[in-house]
Amino acid sequence: ASFEEAELYDKFLNNVREVGYKKPTPIQKHAMPIIMSGRDMMGCAQTGSGKSAAFILPIISMMMKSGLQGGSEYADIQTPQALVVCPTRELINQLYTEARKFSKGSRLKVQVAYGGTSVRVCSERIRYGTNLLCATPGRLLDIISRNYISLENLEFLVLDEADIMLDMGFKDDIDKIVRACPEKGIRQTLMFSATFPRSIQEMASRYLADDYVFVA
Ligand code: AMP
Repeated sequence: ASFEEAELYDKFLNNVREVGYKKPTPIQKHAMPIIMSGRDMMGCAQTGSGKSAAFILPIISMMMKSGLQGGSEYADIQTPQALVVCPTRELINQLYTEARKFSKGSRLKVQVAYGGTSVRVCSERIRYGTNLLCATPGRLLDIISRNYISLENLEFLVLDEADIMLDMGFKDDIDKIVRACPEKGIRQTLMFSATFPRSIQEMASRYLADDYVFVA
């Protein structure tokens, strides 16, 4: 398998080459076509498996293919079309850095939000124009409940490191965040978790479409 087979947005294939990835990892090989086909997915994968690129590349490719480029209507939408939620500042910064690298040279605007920084500065940056938002649950809920952002145009929702988020006590926050998103079936939802205990299975059945694909 190759990255070319995944039908990613051309420019992003160049970015993948520039980053130095020669060949997809197993999770990338299996997840990318499923995500590109529009299905919901639950991926059991550890940090280090290459799961970040496995969901970032298809999502930003689909966003570009659906008309973000070339000064179309999409370029002016101020609310995010994609949201990635993950538990810690370190992890979300890694995702943000990857998303920036892979979307280099495009009009796609990537932003990051996490606690410990000014809520107002953070919100203003996001409102200035964000297509893909990477956020930790607490800060995200904060800016949602203050009406600083709207998720009404969201098309892609990723809950990454889901088991860690539950362990850290973010269950109710995640519930509220998902309730602020368009319904399942309208949005495409992806979940990633290193483990698949009952609590994660239950979360998957609530947040993912009934016909979601399980990838391990
Ligand atoms: P992740 O599991 O997404 O945190 O990725 C773990 C590490 O593997 C990161 O440092 C990535 O840059 C690297 N990586 C991801 N995919 C590939 C690939 N296809 N080829 C080489 N390195 C990769």
